[in-house]
Amino acid sequence: MGMLEGKTVIVTGAGRGIGRDFALVMAAEGANVVVNDLGGDATGEGADLSPAQQVVEEIRAAGGKAVVNGDSVASWEGANRIIKTAVDAFGTVHGVVNNAGILRDRIFHQMSVDEWKAVIDVHLNGSFYMARAVAPIFRSEGRGRFVHMTSTSGLIGNFGQANYAAAKLGIVGLSKSIALDMQRYGVTSNCISPFAWSRLIGTIPTDTPEQAARVERMKTMETGKIAPLAAFLMSDASAEVSGQIFGVRANEIFLMGQSRPIRSVHRAEGWTPDTVASHAIPALRASFYKLERSADVFSWDPI
Ligand code: NAD
Repeated sequence: MGMLEGKTVIVTGAGRGIGRDFALVMAAEGANVVVNDLGGDATGEGADLSPAQQVVEEIRAAGGKAVVNGDSVASWEGANRIIKTAVDAFGTVHGVVNNAGILRDRIFHQMSVDEWKAVIDVHLNGSFYMARAVAPIFRSEGRGRFVHMTSTSGLIGNFGQANYAAAKLGIVGLSKSIALDMQRYGVTSNCISPFAWSRLIGTIPTDTPEQAARVERMKTMETGKIAPLAAFLMSDASAEVSGQIFGVRANEIFLMGQSRPIRSVHRAEGWTPDTVASHAIPALRASFYKLERSADVFSWDPI
């Protein structure tokens, strides 16, 4: 018996990359899987049902159960059709993985309003639409599982990704809010921050031997390495795990921190701008965070 026997899960963006492995592994664990994917290019342009259809065929060939859906998560109507696909095919939904994603990287001062909105729409609004559309089912059936994909681009930082970082950190707030609001109905909600070699990071240049060697090391971050944690988080076994942010990179699993006060300073008479400058900032400076990027913090090679 697989860990997800009898469960119905929806994986968005499951035609390629990390989501494809989620669908394959969850089906192998016994789940009925809705393989959703719009099938556009990495920036979200275009549509093609064939990658998602191939995943469904692969699951069926291995004896599993899956149906395809090609709607976009970036609209409320689309999200509702994705949920309906699951209900029509399998009767209900037990878990949703918000994995669909696009990139529109641009240095901040040149980022267009369209680039900002497109990324917010797929990642943050799409995750909300999917979660909100399925919430009545989870509430009435007294259980439910959410996994949302976040990124160290939001949790830590990266160049040229203001739209993506804002969306991915917004998803962390969304996940925590769902975990709090729906705890009473037996619903859990967690985030995974993956590191994986996919088309979204496959454009790194390999012009020098050093760059080529680095890319070879990065290829050890296989997309399939993220799936075991996601499958566990979809299962009954994860009932006590909610409101957390995990990281996965090759064979490492991390529990990521969440914001808490780390240092405080107080003056009984209150503050003026001058005393903030002369007292508060010098006192707090020792605990300031460096202006680091994800790669500065994850400075060792994938294991
Ligand atoms: P990917 O491009 O290989 O897969 C994303 C899939 O989402 C694609 O198949 C795409 O067609 C689909 N998609 C895009 N917009 C959609 C929409 N509106 N509706 C439905 N499907 C849509 O990328 P990936 O690397 O596998 O990324 C999966 C998730 O993990 C994304 O949320 C991404 O932001 C996140 N992530 C990935 C990495 C990494 O290292 N690869 C790092 C951090 C976060």
